[in-house]
Amino acid sequence: MYDHIVIGAGIVGTMIARELSRHEGKVLVLEKESDVANHQTIANSAIIHSGHDPKPGTLKAKLSVTGNRLYETLEKELDIPILNTGAYVVAHDAFEEHVLSDLLSRARENGVSRAEIISGERAREIEPNLHETITKALSLPTTRVTYPWEVAFAAMENAIENGAEIRLNSEVTKITESDGAYVVEVNNRDTFESRFIINAAGVFSDDIASFIETETPLRITPRKGEYIVLDRRVKGWINHVIYPVPTDKGKGVLLTPQIHGNILLGPTSVFVDDKENVKTTQEGIATIKKDVAALARNIPYDRTIRSFSGIRATSDYHDFYIKESTQHPRFYHVAGIDSPGLTAAPAIATYLVDLIKDTYALTRKTDFNPYRKKRLTYHKLNDKEKKALFEKDPRYGRLVCKCEKITEAEIVEAIKGPLGSDTIKGIKKRARAGSGLCQGGYCEHEVLKIIARETKKSKTNVDYYGKNTPILLRETKVKS
Ligand SMILES: Cc1cc2nc3c(=O)[nH]c(=O)nc-3n(C[C@H](O)[C@H](O)[C@H](O)COP(=O)(O)OP(=O)(O)OC[C@H]3O[C@@H](n4cnc5c(N)ncnc54)[C@H](O)[C@@H]3O)c2cc1C
Repeated sequence: MYDHIVIGAGIVGTMIARELSRHEGKVLVLEKESDVANHQTIANSAIIHSGHDPKPGTLKAKLSVTGNRLYETLEKELDIPILNTGAYVVAHDAFEEHVLSDLLSRARENGVSRAEIISGERAREIEPNLHETITKALSLPTTRVTYPWEVAFAAMENAIENGAEIRLNSEVTKITESDGAYVVEVNNRDTFESRFIINAAGVFSDDIASFIETETPLRITPRKGEYIVLDRRVKGWINHVIYPVPTDKGKGVLLTPQIHGNILLGPTSVFVDDKENVKTTQEGIATIKKDVAALARNIPYDRTIRSFSGIRATSDYHDFYIKESTQHPRFYHVAGIDSPGLTAAPAIATYLVDLIKDTYALTRKTDFNPYRKKRLTYHKLNDKEKKALFEKDPRYGRLVCKCEKITEAEIVEAIKGPLGSDTIKGIKKRARAGSGLCQGGYCEHEVLKIIARETKKSKTNVDYYGKNTPILLRETKVKS
């Protein structure tokens, strides 16, 4: 019997698991995918927003401003990368300047510090590639950028260090209540019992709610956002996050510098029927190019390396829905967590745990360890450190991913480390092998061979991502 089952291992579920692991009690995270951070958490702009945009008084406004601040603590505790970019929301005419003034008032009301409006000339002095038609900019210095799935790994690894458990490839298919406990059925087969249930299933949170509620408290309509990714050799072309003025469709199509030097152009905003439809489209790419044309000049499209899309959990509740079920005690919905959910996630976790504590007793552990050490990046070490490591393990001397300079030893660590993975994309998420200019063209088959060797699987059984997704079907040459 568990004390808490958390459904979903996105940024919200993993942060909640970490927060719960500060307290006595057994915590289990159930995730339907083969890896942590596979849905919204892998496909977003990676911005820790300042909190300037949500309507004052909403939970979104409160938790995004608090979440932004909590990332300062998390940077030290979880050893996660943070880029203090700052942001400009840019205006092109009198109407948009008026929107900027409203946004500044909203930012101040929400408690965002150091927000101010500057002239277009001043913004261009700092960001020379901003478009010459920009007349004013709202400067938001507390905006930052992170590496979302690394944050989710870090939170989950730290939760595991503090006693939590996770089961991947475990889709919750049914939930029933029996003798003061909940019985959670997984993959139509296994069952787990728990006193508390936390529904953190992202775009599927309304489906999970419908397993238990006679009337689902909210409906999620999936909203797709597409992106173009520029290679990290464009680093420095833009250093701030650049937003257009927001519209009723949201924060708009942005320019966002990323942790490793890449720049994202996007996201679009289109309602779709399918919660898992992450195909990119010609229309999406055209919309991005049209919209960012007004933000900057000399856009280096010749450095495009890929496109991708993510699905937002947009709800008809129009705010984060974080509440205990009215009919089922100890069953909490953490639903409708669309943007700025990445920003708010650490604050969502503390808000939820405080909510539980308000009604039920939770005892804080005396031996909780908040610290987690990240995997090392060999090419960032100095020569002396590199030599010492190479002498201990010569696999640091074999470069596998040439674009991102990732060695064989780092790939083995990504396979065997805490929360390790045995899929090609899982290794890409952990070690960045395949994230560079060639997008795995050179190293993917090398990564596959290393996974096969380390996990003692045949090469045709190594999955790309998820169960039964091999990229090699059979041997084509007869070995002598
Ligand atoms: C295009 C786009 C851009 C965005 N940009 C930003 C941004 O820059 N900054 C920001 O703050 N926010 C941004 N967001 C929002 C942010 O990404 C999300 O709010 C956040 O990732 C939500 O995390 P989550 O854990 O709730 O959801 P998810 O990451 O979707 O996790 C939910 C998990 O639940 C699992 N699950 C679902 N059903 C089941 C089941 N039956 N059994 C077991 N597991 C299940 C899923 O597999 C998934 O892993 C953006 C979102 C999108 C889509």
